[in-house]
Amino acid sequence: MIMNDFRDADKVWLDLDLATMSRSAARFADGPQSYAMQQNMALAIKDGRISAIAPMADIDEMLLPNANIVGRGGWMTPGLIDCHTHLVFAGSRAQEFEQRLQGVPYEQIAREGGGILSTVRATREASEQQLFDVAVPRLQVLMSEGVTTIEIKSGYGLTLKDELKMLRVARQLGEAFPIQMRTTLLGAHALPPEFVSNSDAYIDLVCEQMIPAAAEQKLADAVDVFCEGIGFSPAQCERVFIAAKNHGLAVKGHTEQLSDLKGSQLAANYGALSVDHLEYLDANALQPLVDNGTVAVLLPGAFYFLRETKLPPIQALRTAGIPMAIATDFNPGTSPLASLRLMMNMACTLFRLTPEEALAGVTCHAAKALGLSDDSGRLVVGAPADMLLWDIKHPSELAYQMGVPMLKQRIYQGETSHV
Ligand SMILES: [Zn+2]
Repeated sequence: MIMNDFRDADKVWLDLDLATMSRSAARFADGPQSYAMQQNMALAIKDGRISAIAPMADIDEMLLPNANIVGRGGWMTPGLIDCHTHLVFAGSRAQEFEQRLQGVPYEQIAREGGGILSTVRATREASEQQLFDVAVPRLQVLMSEGVTTIEIKSGYGLTLKDELKMLRVARQLGEAFPIQMRTTLLGAHALPPEFVSNSDAYIDLVCEQMIPAAAEQKLADAVDVFCEGIGFSPAQCERVFIAAKNHGLAVKGHTEQLSDLKGSQLAANYGALSVDHLEYLDANALQPLVDNGTVAVLLPGAFYFLRETKLPPIQALRTAGIPMAIATDFNPGTSPLASLRLMMNMACTLFRLTPEEALAGVTCHAAKALGLSDDSGRLVVGAPADMLLWDIKHPSELAYQMGVPMLKQRIYQGETSHV
């Protein structure tokens, strides 16, 4: 029977070790580092999905069409999923980075038009084509290290026109490149200069115009907020969540990054797919996340770049069985780091995740943070054929070694590209 599945397949890999990540429990830290691994296996795909997985002992290679065998040996993992990025933006903040290191206070930089508002200004001025063009190399470098699904947020337009422009560019990137795209409306990212001292009126604009337009034009899969003293209050974020729900959009939150406003619990109570950052999350107030199946997205790049010292409550999240995802948060201000593997390493070094937790954080748990199907981010029969073939001896290497090429093949929807 199993040989029929392999003979009829579109493509077959032999002599594989699989990090299937297919454990049903959220906890990846317990037990020996297992990665739900299956060694000495064969894997077949058909019509863009994994169609069969079997031990090599059950495979009669003589019965397989030779041309269908596209890989032999190595470790296979699910494709990597970067579930939190701000990849589409114009301008650069490198000079601001330099100024700060020369001792210029951030307040002065902001007063002189720097900070997030400089990115807003540049993004508003850029055409759709210009935004697309500057985003391409960022996307390509993530793809080249194995990312097969990415989420991109708006949030540097802060007008109806410019937020929709950013979302359209993100959608176009997903159509132009072999990568699965998820887009998130982050209108409530920062207060635009036109609304200074009237933030409630800006939230009106987000709720009454941006969310309905993004939903109607099918430009967003989810709606996000920045719940923070320098962002928006919990009451304002709640209005955004209600509007999103009314338009059938999932919600997410940038919460507890700089202070504990209980934004994570608020978001979870609105069924949030994920709450992200979480350095100041109260370890004793995690029940709403558990009850709603909300994923905790850790962003070690921003933690590192801001030289934050307060750690997210990792052990409490682990004990509560809350799935932890890891993302780049790629953005010009606080995480200009376009490497998801570097984030896996930082999650281990800075947050003390295990390499297995780190891999779960960029595969199955990241899939859950985006509301993808349950088999996404796992190597199981029926799952999307988004997979990576690595030249490694053990999957712990993926979080361990940076800069040395290890990826042999990137497979997206069954199409193989050599890296
Ligand atoms: Zn972010």
